[in-house]
Formats: sequence, C-alpha cells, structure tokens
Amino acid sequence: MDMKRFTNHLRQGKTPAFPPEAKDLQFAQDLDRQDELAEFRDQFNIPTRASLQRKSLKPQPQQPASNGTLVLHEGTGLHAWVNGHHDQDTNSPHPQSSDDGDARCIYFVGNSLGAQPKLVREHLDAHLDTWAAIGVNGHFTTLDDSPLVSWQDMAEDCARKSVDIVGASSASEVIIMNTLTANLHLLMASFYRPTEQRHKILVEWRPFPSDWYAIQTQIQWHGLDPATSMIEIQPSSPPDLYLSTATILATIDAHADSAALLLLPGIQYYTGQLFDIPLITSHAHKRGILVGWDLAHAAGNVELRLHDWDVDFAVWCTYKYLNAGPGAIAGAFVHERHGGVTPAADGKGFDYRPRLAGWYGCDKQVRFNMDKEFRPTPGAAGFQVSNPSAVDLASLSAALEVFGRAGMGRLRGKGLVLTAYLEWLLDGILEDSDGKEDGNKEGEVDGSKEGEKDFRILTPRNPMERGSQLSLLLRPGLLERVSRALAENGVVCDARKPDVIRVAPVPLYCRFEDVWRFAEILRGALRDS
Ligand SMILES: *Cc1c(COP(=O)(O)O)cnc(C)c1O
Repeated sequence: MDMKRFTNHLRQGKTPAFPPEAKDLQFAQDLDRQDELAEFRDQFNIPTRASLQRKSLKPQPQQPASNGTLVLHEGTGLHAWVNGHHDQDTNSPHPQSSDDGDARCIYFVGNSLGAQPKLVREHLDAHLDTWAAIGVNGHFTTLDDSPLVSWQDMAEDCARKSVDIVGASSASEVIIMNTLTANLHLLMASFYRPTEQRHKILVEWRPFPSDWYAIQTQIQWHGLDPATSMIEIQPSSPPDLYLSTATILATIDAHADSAALLLLPGIQYYTGQLFDIPLITSHAHKRGILVGWDLAHAAGNVELRLHDWDVDFAVWCTYKYLNAGPGAIAGAFVHERHGGVTPAADGKGFDYRPRLAGWYGCDKQVRFNMDKEFRPTPGAAGFQVSNPSAVDLASLSAALEVFGRAGMGRLRGKGLVLTAYLEWLLDGILEDSDGKEDGNKEGEVDGSKEGEKDFRILTPRNPMERGSQLSLLLRPGLLERVSRALAENGVVCDARKPDVIRVAPVPLYCRFEDVWRFAEILRGALRDS
C-alpha cells in the first residue's frame, strides 16, 4: 500500500478502504518499513513491560528482568511476541544496546503524558553543568558547546521552536510561561472584559474541569453570575456527543449581541473531536466576539495556523503531545494585533492592551532598571509575568527540537494513517463479533444491534475532524475488565469512568505494529469478558 497516496486521501476528509490483507501483522510491518519517521521511535524512552512493574528507581538485581507474570490471551499472537524476546530495560540513561522494540509497552497515552525524548536528559545535564560551572552568569552567558542558550534567552528560543507547531507568524506571537490554567487566567484577564451589554462567555457543554473552573471564577471575579454569563454550546443530537459546526455557529448567532468571548478547545479531550478553528473564529469575529482556543490536545497533534486563522489568543500545555514532561512550562499565543506597544498620545508612558503584569513582561532593555513604570515587551512576551524555570525550559527545548526535526506536516501525515488504521481494525472487531452473535452476516453493522455492541467509537469518523486519539465508549460494565486486560498485556492507555477508554497512537514514537497488536489485545479482552 502506498502510504503517501493514502495520506492525501485522508487529508481530503475521505477514508480510503484498507485492503483485506490489512488485518495481517505483515501489513502493519510493511507500513512501518515505509515510515519515514520510523527512526524517531528510538529517540524516546518508552516504558518497557518490565520497567512498568518497578517499585524502585533502579531495577533490583534479584528481580528477573523479564516479566513472567503476564496473562496472555491465546491466539492473539502475543505469545510469539513475548516469547522470542528478552524484556530488557531501555530506560537506563545508557542502554547497553539499542533495543529491539518488542520489550517496550504499547504507549498509547501520549495524549495524557508524552513519552520522554532521550534528548531531554542531555539538555537537563547541560543546564545543570552550566549552573554548576558559572552560577549566576548563566543568565546572560551561552556556552560554546551547549545545546542551550543563556537562561534569559531560553523562553524566546522555545517560542521560536514553537512557531511552526502552532502556526504563529513569528516567535513574537508566542510566549512560553507558567502552566496552561494559569495562562488561561492571565489571558482572560486581558481578553475578557465584560460590559453590561457584552458579558457572556460561550463554552462547550463538557469542558475539561480546569477550564470550566477558570471560566466560572473569572465571571464571578467580575461580580457576574455564571448562570447568566456562561453559555454552554450543547451537542447537536444528544446522546451523541458530537458538536457540529452548524450548532456552534448558531449558538454564536443566538448570543451575538451579548457575548464577549468564545473559548473552545481545539480538540475536545473526551471525544477527540477537532473543531473547525478558522471558520468558527471568523464567524465569531463577524459578531464582534473575541476568540480564545485551548490547544492542550491540539498542539503537536494537528497542524495549526493560528496567525492566518486570526485567532485572538490560545493556550496549550507541553506535556501531552509535545513531550516536555509532567507539568512542564506551557505556551500561549497572542495575535500580533493585540501585542502592540506605542507611546501614549499624551506623551506619558505607553499604550498597550490591559493585562496583569509582572517584571518579566517588561521590555528587556528596561527590565533590570527596576523602574516603577511598566513598559511591556511588544508581542506575546509582554504578557509574561515571572522569571521562567530554566529546568523546565531545558526540557521543553529538547522536546521541541525533536518536533523540529520531524516536522508537523510529516507527523500529521503519519498520524492520519495510523489513526485510520486503528479505526479500520476496530471496525473489524465489531463486524466479527456481530457476525458471531447473529449466526449470519446480514444486517450487521448498523441498526438495531447498536445497543449490543461491545463498544462504539465516539470520535468523529471524518479524519480531518480528529487528531491521533480515538475514544471508545464501552458497553456498560466492561471498563474494568478491559482496562485490566490491556494493562496486563503491556498496553498503556487512558480509562475514564464509567465507560470510556481513550487511545492515542501518536506518530512520533508509535508504530503500525503497535496499532495491530493493540487491536488484537482488545479483541482478546472483549472475547474473554
Ligand atoms: C490537560 C488539560 C489541562 C491541564 O491544565 P494544567 O493547567 O496544565 O494542569 C487543562 N485543560 C485541558 C483542556 C486539558 O486537556
């Protein structure tokens, strides 16, 4: 199968049919051989099935390295997989040999915490060595043989490396600072300035709780009532969780005179739905509404063009698809039209968009003059408040370096095919089990059997309306057993009570073979449930 042609189909929103032989492991392995990003997998420390069992930081010598306690499902192919290989630990800083890959778990949880790029350790070491050697001078000194710039320039360096990931016009539209929710608050302080007439914030009906709390308390902070100022955009045809663009636009129209801000996720964390950011943004602008996007699940996952799409502001974290490590420093985008700093008309001070300020938002030329007057750096950097953590920035700079080498276009291309392949294999499981229950193969997929299926894919079927995540809604009562079976067979993914598992075969370090093995493990788990 020609992967490039396939990718082009998917980019047009079409799902091309996989050939019948796609159900064989060989087919998956053939795609892996065609994968021009395959080399990146070895640039990550992916937990092994053995290391996942660890109770101590270092492997204990008395414990056998290979894990003999796994429950295997007969006939899934797993037997052969586990037997012929030694479960070696690839996570030591100096692995003895390059691993053969089979010891590594199926890490399908990069939508929650990305795997560790090996380059992170190199960058952290460089930072620690710099600090040890030159102390405070590290603020302004860049050592010749270091992968890092001086501490004062690291945030800007990371902003530069983020330009292509979010589609900024230049680094001046990006600021690396704080964490996602903190940035949401800071940017809402600037972009949500309710008036008597325009006071509403339009949100989706099921936001990530942190976003919900931030929006709700911002409204209260202004002395307003979320019951009247917070408008939830409801799914088009419940209980389906899909939010159609038409529904979103209609809600915008319904509140066109009273809404101040529209705040949506680029990708909905629960269903994996990717929204039409340019169309929604432009529609809201026509109604005089400012637009912010939470890109926690979109940054590093799908291609973004925030500047061209005219987005007012956006925030994202860096520990999901971007792999900078748990709780790592986050990013924010402020469109250049909001970042201007001009001398005030009366000759006193400067005009700029109101914000909550701190000394690191001050122009570098005057930052250390310790003046009382706040003169922001033009652009997104003028929204920074504090001295950013160099440890965080070292880690993030490594993670972004890897993205730079891989390129968002290529990553999205592979991601589209990986996810479509997963979807196709999952549909195969449903078809096979339908056939069994019916005793024949007629009328199998749609219609009255809906309620009896073991699972349903919540994520949109259109490849351009999703990233690398598929959310499976399991038949009630299955979640615990299925999650246990997945874990026992070396799959790491995310279970959300009561009935959803979210699986994310991210293209940087996951293989088609992982997708194939995952599907076989799931098939076995469902059969045994
Ligand atoms: C992951 C995620 C967050 C996390 O916020 P932090 O401030 O980084 O803890 C917030 N919102 C959404 C939509 C997320 O997916």
